[in-house]
Amino acid sequence: MSKKQNLPGCDEIDSGVLRVDQARDNILSALSPVNGVEQVAVRSALGRILAQDVLATIDVPSHTNSAMDGYAILAADIPTGGSKKLNVVATVMAGAPIKQTIAVGECARIMTGGKMPAGTDTVIMQEHVKRVGDGIEITGGHKPQQNVRQAGEDLANGERVFGPGKKLSPADIGMLASMGIAEVRVRRRVRVAFFSTGDELCSVGQTLDDGQIYDSNRYTLYGMLKNLGVDFIDMGIIPDQREPLEKAFFTAAAEADVLITSGGVSVGEADFVKETLNKIGQVGFWKIAMKPGKPLAFGNIEGCQFFGLPGNPVSAMVTFYQFVQPALRHLMGEKNTAPLLLQLKTDVSLKKRPGRLEYQRGIMANNANGELVVRPTGAQGSGILSSMGEANCFIVLPLECSKVDAGQTVTVQPFAGLI
Ligand code: AMP
Ligand code: MG
Repeated sequence: MSKKQNLPGCDEIDSGVLRVDQARDNILSALSPVNGVEQVAVRSALGRILAQDVLATIDVPSHTNSAMDGYAILAADIPTGGSKKLNVVATVMAGAPIKQTIAVGECARIMTGGKMPAGTDTVIMQEHVKRVGDGIEITGGHKPQQNVRQAGEDLANGERVFGPGKKLSPADIGMLASMGIAEVRVRRRVRVAFFSTGDELCSVGQTLDDGQIYDSNRYTLYGMLKNLGVDFIDMGIIPDQREPLEKAFFTAAAEADVLITSGGVSVGEADFVKETLNKIGQVGFWKIAMKPGKPLAFGNIEGCQFFGLPGNPVSAMVTFYQFVQPALRHLMGEKNTAPLLLQLKTDVSLKKRPGRLEYQRGIMANNANGELVVRPTGAQGSGILSSMGEANCFIVLPLECSKVDAGQTVTVQPFAGLI
């Protein structure tokens, strides 16, 4: 029998129940990143996790150049009052070498990206000069060194640009290319197998029998795994019978780093999932103080990390995002995975029972004043998958909270960056 304890401001919470942060810590501390590194072309490195230090191999930009179409001059030629005439003695196109030195009283016509000629340090935009004969006339008010990009101002030769654990974004692969780097070493992809359990499940393309439902979890899981950039093996629906279940668990353990299943982990479940797992692996069946998604199984089957998600479609997604996704990112070798949380005002009052941390599905949007505010989607039941579809964030309501008035601030976890 589990003991009950009272937390301040809470309903009684069962001492056999884990808090979300405890469950997440337990999971993360049981996992280490996969070994294995591969060398890939820069484009293929997009979304992958870097497995090396990247030091700048050159200055970027490699030469001091003009940020504008205009005239390269020496700052000393900017008049303090009135105007001054400078002779145009050279033209510099982007990409062209320039050997000529520009003297005081002279200037060079220069295009954006053109290398600053020796003797110049300032660019006057072409719109700010008057052409007079073979020269230009400039007035005062220009800033010395304006409109010039210094060599190495983006990346300095030898500087550490990225380290291991960085997930490479479009900007990052652009930066690699800007240094002329064609290939990098990244961690190998994590292999994830998944299947659904439950005798009520029917696959798309088949006709529903009385009492059956379509298996949607395999599709949400497919989407969440695909967006994460792992390799996956969809093992379909496994019937709730000893032999097929045991066989599926062993196949997954042999072929994948991680197995994710949905269904069959709730209390009082009349199925063979728990029985089989207890026989062949080390798996804990947890009750987590969260809503939706109370049950979660976590453990190991012959070295394969196992996550058993609840069957309810919203619970499966919420537990995936709160536990499995951080775990997979950790296994992938990614660093800095803490989610970005916002503090936003709620447009309406929110109801909740104390004792469980709630992930209500929310819609954040700008109100008439341009302020970003949040409101929940409609029905919040754990089977209402449309609540996830309509939402663009989770409204995270703490364990002990019982209600939030309209206009109060709540913690929001945006989906952008999460999915
Ligand atoms: P369980 O966690 O197995 O007790 O399932 C809880 C609820 O989720 C039940 O109503 C199931 O029918 C439903 N469910 C289980 N697996 C799936 C699935 N793959 N797709 C859609 N609903 C599911
Ligand atoms: Mg079931």
